[in-house]
Amino acid sequence: MIYLDNNATTRIDDAVLHAMLPFLREDYGNASSLQHRMGRTAHQAIEQARQSLAKYFGCSPHEIYFTSGATESVNLVLRGIFDRYQSIGKHIITTKSEHKAVLTTLEGLEKKGAEITYLSVDANGNINLLDLESSIRKDTILICLMHANNETGIIHPIEEIAQIAIKNQVLFFSDTTQAIGKVQINYFSSGVDICCFSAHKLHGPKGIGGVFIRRKSRPIQIEPLITGGKQEKSLRGGTYNTPAIVGMGKAFEITNKNNIEVEKLRNYLEQRLTQEIEETIIHSQIASRLSNTTNILFKHVKSAELMPKLANIAVSSGSACVSGDRDPSHVLLSMGISPEDAQCSIRFSLSKYTTIEELDSTINEIKSTVQKIRNDSPIWQLYKANLLT
Ligand code: PLP
Repeated sequence: MIYLDNNATTRIDDAVLHAMLPFLREDYGNASSLQHRMGRTAHQAIEQARQSLAKYFGCSPHEIYFTSGATESVNLVLRGIFDRYQSIGKHIITTKSEHKAVLTTLEGLEKKGAEITYLSVDANGNINLLDLESSIRKDTILICLMHANNETGIIHPIEEIAQIAIKNQVLFFSDTTQAIGKVQINYFSSGVDICCFSAHKLHGPKGIGGVFIRRKSRPIQIEPLITGGKQEKSLRGGTYNTPAIVGMGKAFEITNKNNIEVEKLRNYLEQRLTQEIEETIIHSQIASRLSNTTNILFKHVKSAELMPKLANIAVSSGSACVSGDRDPSHVLLSMGISPEDAQCSIRFSLSKYTTIEELDSTINEIKSTVQKIRNDSPIWQLYKANLLT
């Protein structure tokens, strides 16, 4: 299998797996059982992982909290902030191109009285910062804008967004799940208040993630989503998943944000596909993008038809959460792309394990399959004869 779906999830790094194994086999004590040595060993390993994450974010270990992953973190932040701040204001600002974890959670909050402003994005997926600033109201409690988009890879200018948030005294939460390990940034210095993450996006294990929550002079208030023991300063109860946390710590430690080689491969893939297959368009090409991601439209070739024919190639027609249903990508639609073109678009996401040989095979297979589908397609014939309206 040629794996080009690394924005959905990544292969675990061997170093991560090795770091985890002792905590699955011998050191399986409960990290909250500090009365005995096995518990203390687990506790120390967790605190070491917390330090690795803090180093990555440029923050203090006290500002890192563990959860089961980015979806839980998004729920914790959005619901938890709305619960605590709704007496002050009910207005939240976001975009329609956020991940479904954000959009579905905000839909739920709307039913509880939240008022959401969805900023529009341009054809490349960029927001207009003047629109953002002018949409802030007296009752705005949160700006929620992702750092990098999982489908197109477009990167939002979070430092500038943070400045707007600070100037207007509004909290700023950024879903940084896709940007982590791929974008050179110090999140603490960027000014963002809250970030979320999942380890499996950067060669760590699945089912573990967390949040960075800035310590401010007026502390950020978040109502817990999962109550129970006093873990994570009572923000998130439940027995620690020590092996996963240790693995996540290792994944953050070894991640290499310098993705020049991956970017070269991505550009090679784009260049050959667009040169060798007619009517092929790269979405958001001129925007600032993640170096591993490309989202490509093959005109009049439905991804639902193309992808099953690529038996040995793992790609995606959108985020993992929506592939499988037939709706065109909400991200591409939000950029003004037609439903027809959105349904003919495919996301390729590379990793440090991707090779040029894999890309050569992918290009050859896509070329011949696209050609075959188009040859058999009456719509393509009409399009070529300029008879399609
Ligand atoms: N946010 C973004 C931008 C993502 O890409 C994803 C996963 O695809 C998530 C949130 C949710 O992450 P998880 O499924 O690990 O909870």
